[in-house]
Order: sequence, then structure tokens, then C-alpha cells
Amino acid sequence: MYLTQDPILIVGAGPVGLTLAWRLTQLGLNAQVFEAENKITDQLRASTFHPPTLDYFDKSGITAELIAAGKITPTWQIRMHTSGERAEFDLSVLNEDTAHPYRLQCRQELLARALAARLPKDTIHFSSSITAVSQDKDGVSIILNDKVVRGSILIGCDGARSIVRKAIGAVFEGETYPENTILVTTHFPFEDHLDGLSGVNYIWKPGGTYSLLRLPDLWRISLHPTEGQTPEKALEDSAIRAQTREVLPQAEDIDIVEKRIYRVHRRVATHYRKNRIFIAGDAAHLNSPKGGMGMNGGIHDAWCLADLLMEVANGGDPERLDKYETRRRPIACDDIVAQADKNRARMSIKNEAKRYEYLKSLQDIAADPIKARNFLLRSSMIEGLRRSEML
Ligand SMILES: Cc1cc2nc3c(=O)[nH]c(=O)nc-3n(C[C@H](O)[C@H](O)[C@H](O)COP(=O)(O)OP(=O)(O)OC[C@H]3O[C@@H](n4cnc5c(N)ncnc54)[C@H](O)[C@@H]3O)c2cc1C
Repeated sequence: MYLTQDPILIVGAGPVGLTLAWRLTQLGLNAQVFEAENKITDQLRASTFHPPTLDYFDKSGITAELIAAGKITPTWQIRMHTSGERAEFDLSVLNEDTAHPYRLQCRQELLARALAARLPKDTIHFSSSITAVSQDKDGVSIILNDKVVRGSILIGCDGARSIVRKAIGAVFEGETYPENTILVTTHFPFEDHLDGLSGVNYIWKPGGTYSLLRLPDLWRISLHPTEGQTPEKALEDSAIRAQTREVLPQAEDIDIVEKRIYRVHRRVATHYRKNRIFIAGDAAHLNSPKGGMGMNGGIHDAWCLADLLMEVANGGDPERLDKYETRRRPIACDDIVAQADKNRARMSIKNEAKRYEYLKSLQDIAADPIKARNFLLRSSMIEGLRRSEML
């Protein structure tokens, strides 16, 4: 039997590993999660949940929990600083396509916590750093503190530096973008000073770009080091405040609740499966956070793989599991990474005339309900998901 009595082993208790574990246990399968950290991380990362992800979690009550803790964002915009000219996209044109025609802004750890709370006791093993994985014809093994744990299948949801990806010999093809991004949260009321902000705003400023994303109680502002500034210097409170003052002189000294600096990659693993071992989420693909798709795409990977594993558990041909890579890898390449790259390239335009040309083309799309729906079906990850389900 391909799926034996041994559990399905998952490395990593990020949003992807926990979605997979929860979905598998819901389907009646035994999953065990191994997490290197001693708790679910609260690192400042994803905040955008797209409509299909909210649709997925709807029945379980998780979506309602996230909505209660987050902020519904019916529109998002691309904007010129300082004139305030903008193209604003209204997701209500997706009314017929989703039960959640909006973006939800909510910290990713709230999803991880909601999932963990629904898992059977003793499913997640914290402080369990996996150092090696292997497989044979009957199952998989992981090494944990010199102990061997056996399973029937192994899924690496172990993030960007995945050891599972390396174990299956997949190459993480792509590149790392040159720029650093600084992410800051603040209570400063940008909405009192910038007219007509949406909950999500990608903004061109003279010579650069920044973005403003609204969480229920805070703004998340993304900035880039200025010319000649080292990443360390750019992350100093004084440098962050100098940048926000430059954007908005009234900002004076904003309060800084959290801050972090990160580099962005565009990478997709050359393969997602080797026999009984799979990879999902950031272990399989990485993209620019512009557009908020990495975690959402990883959750969609987890959903797809859980459904296929269920088919096999119900007596389906194990060959069906090849569908996982067939369905999900092209979406990572052609939709998630490509769309995020396009979003990043658009916001990197510095030439004023080109910016206005782009803005005008986006305003034309936003003003035409059919064009706007097609555009938003793609950027909200609905179109890619529909296409992947046909593969
Ligand atoms: C600033 C920023 C903003 C972002 N915004 C968005 C957004 O708005 N929307 C969106 O969709 N995405 C966004 N993303 C991307 C999103 O954060 C990631 O795609 C998401 O966290 C991936 O989830 P994951 O579960 O695959 O991996 P991770 O969240 O990285 O989790 C991997 C887990 O595996 C554990 N692990 C690693 N190695 C081992 C090991 N050997 N043994 C045991 N455990 C191990 C780690 O400790 C970790 O807990 C953003 C990313 C950043 C950096």
C-alpha cells in the first residue's frame, strides 16, 4: 500500500505546513508536523489574504475569525505622490466569482494560530529541527535529535532555505533582486494627510516608491534604502523617520512599532516531488511580496496536495500525485512569480512620463468593468487557480 499506517510527516509549521496538516486531518488522515522553533512565529510577514484563500477557509469558520481580527479592503490603488492621482481597483466586480470580493489585511500568524488551534493535540512538535530526510520504497524517514521517525509521505513546508528541497535534488532556479526593503509598522494616521487612500496603496514618489498597507490598528509602510545608504543605516529609527518625513513633512517623528529589513527573490524549484517526498510553499517558490501572493500560493499548493493525497488514500493510483507538480508549478512560474515580478517592475519605473503612461493605462482598466474584472481575476489569484484545476 502506498499510504501506509505511518503518518504523513510535514516539516515546518508556517501557514503552508499547518494548512496541509489541518486539511489532511479534516480528511481523516494522520499528519504530524515538526517545527524547529518553539512556537508559531509572529515575524512581520504576510498581511494580504486573497479571495480564493478566504473562500477555501470559509466553511471551517477560519475566514470569519480572520475577518474579525483583520481589515476588509474592498479597493486597492496605484498612486502618484504627491499629486494623489491614482488608479483604484474595486474588487466588487468579482461578486459573481467569489464569496469574498475583497482583500483581507490580517497578519499571517493569525491564520497559523487558527489552524493550530483546530489540530488534534500532539500534532505539532515544536523545537524539533529536522536535520536529514530520506526515503525507501516503503516510506520516509526524518532525523530528529538522533532519533528516526518513520512516515508514509513527507512534505517539506520548511520555507526558503528548505532542507527537503535539497534532499530531493531540486535546484531553486531564479535570482535575488538587488534592493533591500524596509518594513515598518506605525500608528501614524497617514489617512489624515493623504487624500483618498485605499487599504492597500502602491505609491510612486519622486525617484522611488513606497507602499502603505492598512492593518486594523496600524499602517505597514515599505521603504527602500536611499542612494548610498547601507541596509543597517537605513534600518535605524532616525533614517526611517527621515524617509517618512520626506514623503510627508507633517509626519515628523512617527512611532515605530516594528521594523525589519529583507531581500526579495524570484525563484521556483525545478521539481516539487521525488517519489514519496514533496515540497510546498516558500520551499518550492519565492516571489516579491508586491501583490501579496507567496503565502496565498503556498496555501493553494497545500490544498491541492491534500486533495490528491486523499484520492490516493481512498484507493486512487499513486501516479495521481504527479498532478500536484503539473497543477501547481506552472502557476508558480507563470502567475505568482511572473505577476509579482511585473508588480515590482511597474513600481520601479522612475521616468515621470512613463509612470503617467502606465497610470493612464491602469485607470482605463479600472474604469471598464469587464477589463477590471479580467485584471482582478488575475491579480486576486482566481484565474490561475481555475486554470490549475483544469490541468
Ligand atoms: C515582508 C513580507 C511580506 C509578505 N507579504 C505577503 C502577503 O501579503 N501575502 C502573501 O501571500 N505572502 C506574503 N509574503 C510571503 C509569505 O510570508 C510566505 O510566502 C509564507 O510565510 C510562506 O509560508 P511557508 O509556510 O511556506 O513558509 P514559512 O512561513 O517560512 O514557514 C516555514 C517554517 O518551517 C520551519 N523550518 C525550517 N526548516 C526547518 C527544519 N529543518 N526543521 C523543522 N522546521 C523547519 C521554520 O521555522 C518555519 O516556521 C510576505 C513575505 C515577506 C517577507
